[in-house]
Amino acid sequence: MTPILYLVIPCYNEEEVLPETTRRLKEKFSALTSAGRISELSRILLVDDGSKDHTWPMISALAKEDCRFGGVKLSRNRGHQNALLAGLMTAKGQCDCCISMDADLQDDIGAIDQMLDAFSEGYEVVYGVRSSRESDTFFKRSTAQGFYKFMKLMGVDIVYNHADYRLLSGRALEGLGQFREINLFLRGIVPLIGYKSTTVTYVRSERFAGESKYPLKKMLAFAFDGITSFSVKPIRWVTGLGFLLFIASIIAVLYSLVVKLLGQTVAGWTATMISIWMIGGIQLLSLGVIGEYIGKIYTEVKDRPRFIIEAVELDPGKTE
Ligand code: UDP
Ligand code: MG
Repeated sequence: MTPILYLVIPCYNEEEVLPETTRRLKEKFSALTSAGRISELSRILLVDDGSKDHTWPMISALAKEDCRFGGVKLSRNRGHQNALLAGLMTAKGQCDCCISMDADLQDDIGAIDQMLDAFSEGYEVVYGVRSSRESDTFFKRSTAQGFYKFMKLMGVDIVYNHADYRLLSGRALEGLGQFREINLFLRGIVPLIGYKSTTVTYVRSERFAGESKYPLKKMLAFAFDGITSFSVKPIRWVTGLGFLLFIASIIAVLYSLVVKLLGQTVAGWTATMISIWMIGGIQLLSLGVIGEYIGKIYTEVKDRPRFIIEAVELDPGKTE
């Protein structure tokens, strides 16, 4: 069976790269279809994330002249992750597998073959992993690597050096559709879907035209979202710190009393010392406890699926 593949590509002010990108993708698609690797029903789905330039007119013209292209237009700029999700949810139910990638083709489209190989071997999630970051600027490279390390430290399970270049099977897409959270961090959610997964490596190249749509501000917001959406560790740290301070305050209280009994204090010192330490410790500990409950509320309201069933083997044994 030749699978129906959907390529999902978010585009934000990408008029400079679209002509070249679509030309390369058309070539790739023709090659894949004539090699019998993907079905004729495969599509390239371009999602316009509320661009202010000619991105949408270009996409819609393309969709009219070539049925292999499709377009989705968001009503306004909602950011990379949301645009990607919009595309993936449009693809859901239409395809056997989908691959998400960036409009600038920094991710080598040659890896599509390896991803399809893995898919035909039964893998349902295939992560594209960058083998090197030489083409990135020193700044981008070090901030990105720092980011992955920090996420690990925070206990968030993400694939190292993997961005949003990945293949998802139709079933994995259905699974993704069950996550209802608003603060989207797809790199963190995809591992939670489960199913058999693997990685393929590729060399990341430079943007061939236009400039990065991820300025530092968006990058920081993205990283912050990643941590706060997946980890309650910062709250745990407050609780831990509160506990330590509370122990320290007991020691400080004992110390102040001893010094007072030895008669080496001025009037009022002991009371001031005790209240500062005690109140500080109790406050931080209480904040941590409140934080724990807020953390619980947070995970509850995210309403994540509690399980996704991969297979059931059950013979109810009833005969009509
Ligand atoms: N993008 C988007 N909405 C945004 C910002 C970016 O859809 O608000 C898209 C953009 O068009 C591109 C992808 O996200 O397809 C990645 O952006 P970019 O290549 O600028 O990021 P970088 O490679 O510099 O991290
Ligand atoms: Mg890029």
